[in-house]
Amino acid sequence: MQIAIVGAGIMGRVLAWQLSQSGHRLSIFDRDPIHSGDAAAYTAAGMLTPYSEVASAELAIHTMGMAALPLWSAMTDALSVAGGGRCHSHCDSPCGQSHEPDCDLCLHQLGSLIVAHPGDRADHRHFNQQVQNKLHPAAEQFQQLNAAQLAELEPELAGRFSEATYLPEESWVDNEQAMACLADALLANPNVSWFPEIPVEQLAPHSLRAGGEGYRFDWVIDCRGLGAKADWPQLRGVRGELLWLRAPEVKLKHLVRLMHPRYRIYVVPRPDDIYIIGATQIESDSMEPITVRSSLELLSAAYSLHPGFGEAEIVSTRVNCRPALSDNLPAIRWQDGLIRANGLFRHGFLLAPVVAREVVNWLESGESYRSPYAELIQPLAVPA
Ligand SMILES: Cc1cc2nc3c(=O)[nH]c(=O)nc-3n(C[C@H](O)[C@H](O)[C@H](O)COP(=O)(O)OP(=O)(O)OC[C@H]3O[C@@H](n4cnc5c(N)ncnc54)[C@H](O)[C@@H]3O)c2cc1C
Repeated sequence: MQIAIVGAGIMGRVLAWQLSQSGHRLSIFDRDPIHSGDAAAYTAAGMLTPYSEVASAELAIHTMGMAALPLWSAMTDALSVAGGGRCHSHCDSPCGQSHEPDCDLCLHQLGSLIVAHPGDRADHRHFNQQVQNKLHPAAEQFQQLNAAQLAELEPELAGRFSEATYLPEESWVDNEQAMACLADALLANPNVSWFPEIPVEQLAPHSLRAGGEGYRFDWVIDCRGLGAKADWPQLRGVRGELLWLRAPEVKLKHLVRLMHPRYRIYVVPRPDDIYIIGATQIESDSMEPITVRSSLELLSAAYSLHPGFGEAEIVSTRVNCRPALSDNLPAIRWQDGLIRANGLFRHGFLLAPVVAREVVNWLESGESYRSPYAELIQPLAVPA
């Protein structure tokens, strides 16, 4: 089939990659260049954390997220072949510390740690209860560590916290590397044409208009994130701010979440002593620079997690808006010749492979396809 994908954020790229595996002819349109832009995907921390996220999300996020983890694993394996060895699949140490120099995309499968200061233990307990109540029974994947066990697993936190929750299946990818590796694999495929820096002015069943020209396809798939708001008015932006710090005095290996009654943070390790500290979640579609208040909250929480952050350089601050629907769940809406996939909210990296797989299954099986995820796929007339 001749398929247009409009929007090459994480949703559009993962979907294009999956469709390209089935031999479809693809035209990818994006208003931004191939290797940079304003997509929310370029701001994301790249966490794949289906357990932690369910504390404040529907169970469906966990169910879909668990289905997505093996798809991420398979995708990183396959990208390593398609990219001629550029992308490495699984490694068990943070990038930049011990693995091969050509490792461009690494699925960091080290698990995540949840900790809280003594005064915030109630918040930590509440988090554990929320997750366990929703996931019952989750005992195996939900390990309570005492101070000695925490010190053994993550020596950087030794003596700082008397207990922790360890979620060994949680992982993360480098968002920019994932975007780049997917683009490289797609550009290497002769069935894929990429139209960068061309905003799509109008899209409709079987057709679109871009750069003043009209195009026709068997299917048009709208993956524009917040860029689709004019056609999907229920979409809203949820602002997220995060900081990149260079902290040579900090040697964290795991993704760490600090529980706090007002400002919970996560810390994601990156190569070269970089740590991503995130993120705020504000009901606003403002893309203005990070506020003093948000910076203070994120930085104080980071400093309270590890004093080595006190000497860190602030390398960059990043702001973007997550595309969300009213229930904060992803949605696929279809009519003949047009599919929209959107609403990935704070889970676009986690969920893109499974939402993409559902689009592919639906396209290849037709209207008789029954998704295992109730409500995910609906005719376009049904509002989300
Ligand atoms: C601070 C922050 C941290 C996050 N951390 C995580 C995380 O750790 N894990 C996780 O799973 N998710 C995370 N997310 C969420 C994730 O970034 C989003 O869910 C995801 O990017 C949504 O993907 P998308 O492809 O739908 O939209 P986007 O990534 O925004 O991509 C949309 C694309 O459409 C293009 N476009 C828009 N309009 C047009 C047009 N008219 N013509 C052509 N092209 C167009 C844009 O240029 C863009 O490339 C985070 C988000 C933020 C803001």
